[in-house]
This record gives sequence, C-alpha cells and structure tokens, in this order.
Amino acid sequence: MGPAATWLPAVRRLLPGLAGAGAADHVALTFDDGPDPRSTPRFLDELARLGCRATFFVLGEMLERHPALGRRVVADGHEIAVHGWHHGNALAAAPGRTAAEIGAAARLVMAVTGVRPAWYRPPYGVLSAEALVAARVLGLRPVLWTAWGRDWTRSATPSSVLAALAPGLRGGATLLLHDSDHTSASGSWRSGLGALPELVARCRSAGLRVGPLRDHGVSGVSGSRGSSGSRGAVRRHPVLHHTPGTAAPGNTGDAENTPGPWNGFHDNPLPTTRKEKPGAFQ
Ligand SMILES: [Zn+2]
Repeated sequence: MGPAATWLPAVRRLLPGLAGAGAADHVALTFDDGPDPRSTPRFLDELARLGCRATFFVLGEMLERHPALGRRVVADGHEIAVHGWHHGNALAAAPGRTAAEIGAAARLVMAVTGVRPAWYRPPYGVLSAEALVAARVLGLRPVLWTAWGRDWTRSATPSSVLAALAPGLRGGATLLLHDSDHTSASGSWRSGLGALPELVARCRSAGLRVGPLRDHGVSGVSGSRGSSGSRGAVRRHPVLHHTPGTAAPGNTGDAENTPGPWNGFHDNPLPTTRKEKPGAFQ
C-alpha cells in the first residue's frame, strides 16, 4: 500500500473541499475516463431516463477522438471536466509533462465544447505539486472523491458497485464511477451503468439530490464558481502551450500506467492484467 493510500483519508479530514465533500442534501455523481463511444452514450441515455445529471472527467486523448460525444455530454446538460490527456500517473511523468497535458486537455475541452472546465481530477488521485500549480493557472479546481464503486474490475457487478458505494452514500458525498473501460477491465463499465438506477433511487429515497459537482456546494476552497459556472462562455485565460504530439489516435498512453508504489490507490486500475489491491482506503 503506497503513501497515497493513507493520504486520501487525511485529505478528507483536512481538506474536505479537495475530497469533494459538498452540501448535506446533495450527492455528486462523477464519471472518469471517457468519452468513449462504446459506453458513454449508454450512460447518457440512462442518466436522461433517470432525470439525473453528472460531471464527466474526460481524457484529452479520448475527447480528441470523439469530439461529438463530448459535445453531447454538454448538450445533455452534464458538466465536463478535465482528467488529463493520457491516463498517466503524475509522479511517474517527466517534469513539465503533466502540466502540459492538463493544459492541452483543458484547451481541447474549450475548443470542442465551448465550455470552460472548472474541475481537475488527476488519474489515480495522485496530485503532484506540478499538477496543482497547473490547475491553478488554468482556473481548474482539483477535486478527488469521497466514495468509489470499484466498478473497474473484471468481477464488478451492479450489486458489487452498490455495495462498495454504500458506506459512503450520504449527503455531501462525491461518487466516482467510470463511463469507459479505456484504462480498466474490458466491459467493466457495465457494472457502474447497471448500478445507476438503484443508486439514484437510494439517494432520492433518502432525500438526497443527485447531480454534478457544479451543484454540489463543495466547501473549503475559495473561488467556487457556484452553480452558474461559466458554461457556454469561452473565456481566455492562461494556458500552457503544448501540443501533445504523443496524442495521435492509436496511442492509448497505456505505457504511462506504470505501476508504482502508490498503486494501491487509484481511481481505476493500472494495467488490466494486474489484480486490484483491495482496501486501499475504505
Ligand atoms: Zn481515471
């Protein structure tokens, strides 16, 4: 178990805003790793059926390949946010690379959707100093999560996802699921998708609203844009000039998913051949 495995509980205690703790009557629903044409439309359809909106943390390399899907995320009323370009671990990246990739992803979100993203969630929950600085320069607020569904494993089912989320299912929670298996076990997204109706029903029966981070009232950090956000307004702001030359279609960036000492703690698995390491922080 790496250092980050003991880090997030401390974050939750000391920096609840970074962990994603929000209003007592609201649960934030977030999805990472898309947009993916094999799975994201299914989530969008299901969320529409449920009358529920969410925040999608997209990868630049995925959005670059599937820009129309990114536009649909926004057109359907969801919030789009930055997860990075590739799914790299900031602690394993060469100096400057993480910052450049965050900037490139943020600029791509703006170029494709016309929306200035408000949030940044690092792959594996690993926030390096470089990433923090880059996010600040870009006006992105870092946010992690308070509960996850362990939906990325090959053995995950809707029931297992609900069971994993249950201990953290309370007002103020930020829930992490994945709308793509881009960096996880093939088809694993079906477990999260299948859990959605019961998940939303449980929240609503408990009197909790379910929605995106922009409506979550995340505490602890100044500069919150609130629910009005800046959707639809592309504002110029400092960006890091970087063209991700390694982002050509076909390069999945998986080489960056190098297991490290922190790999007991991540928002989805490292190479799919690896077994998950349970008990990372719950
Ligand atoms: Zn991820």
